[in-house]
Amino acid sequence: MNVLHTVHWLLAALLALVAILSVSGEEPLRRRVLNYRPTQIFAVVSAILLAPANAWATVREVPDVGHRLIVVASIVGLVGTFAMYNMYKIRATSAAKPRRILAIGAHPDDLELAVGGTLARLADSGHEVHTMIMTAGAVGGDPDVRAQEAINGSKFLGVARCDVYNFTDTDLHSDMNEMIDAIEKKINRYNPDIIFTHSSHDQHQDHSAVHLATLRAGRRHRAILCFESPSATSDFTPKVFVNIDDYVGVKSSAVAIHENQSGKPYMTEERVSGIAHFRGDQAKMARAEGFEAVRFDVFGGALS
Ligand SMILES: [Zn+2]
Repeated sequence: MNVLHTVHWLLAALLALVAILSVSGEEPLRRRVLNYRPTQIFAVVSAILLAPANAWATVREVPDVGHRLIVVASIVGLVGTFAMYNMYKIRATSAAKPRRILAIGAHPDDLELAVGGTLARLADSGHEVHTMIMTAGAVGGDPDVRAQEAINGSKFLGVARCDVYNFTDTDLHSDMNEMIDAIEKKINRYNPDIIFTHSSHDQHQDHSAVHLATLRAGRRHRAILCFESPSATSDFTPKVFVNIDDYVGVKSSAVAIHENQSGKPYMTEERVSGIAHFRGDQAKMARAEGFEAVRFDVFGGALS
């Protein structure tokens, strides 16, 4: 085998490998780039066209110019794939001082829907994020599946620890004291700098219960922000915004992990994107998540 044949086989193998990685590694690709699909398509099309061409050039009489063309096209395919990956890659800001963030949701899909972009951005910026899910959601689906989906969703966002509790789905008010106790223990142990929870302007009784439980448990805490669930009422009025323009795709992918709830109208990419645009308009940003502040000590929290 001459050197030219070795180069062709090497390029064919690299093209195939990159295409396989772009398909099998779709989940990390979704998490790390703004729009993974063009990169994936470019890698696969390059491999389909050029891997066989490289193999063909080793078994047939091909003029020198043909060899050169196939080699150059293959290098363009490989370099182009990495260039696209780099172009679409999410560029996270780096936190000067890493903070501890705690997000508390009632049901397994609540945090991805309401604060998923913000949590992913915080995690990418070097902050430590923990989540608490107060019920595995037995009324809305299979609790074992839903609990696992919550853990997978949090993991996808970059959450360091996700705890799923087993309080009574659709009747969290009946577990109020136990919930307060659980949240208080978590606050004492973890000492978060910022707490995210449900809003009081939410018509779901469980969301309202978690809001109250968080306020009771966090009664001495100085930074509590309330997020917007699909069941928020028209009284929900955010004044604090987080730019999630780079993270709407990540948020949609995290929401899609909750396959058990995929039939719900608010689980669609269009809805996730629509609300991000709506809050972005209010915030003078492209796309955003909005929060109501219970209180927010700026210098004791994000900026000190
Ligand atoms: Zn919920």
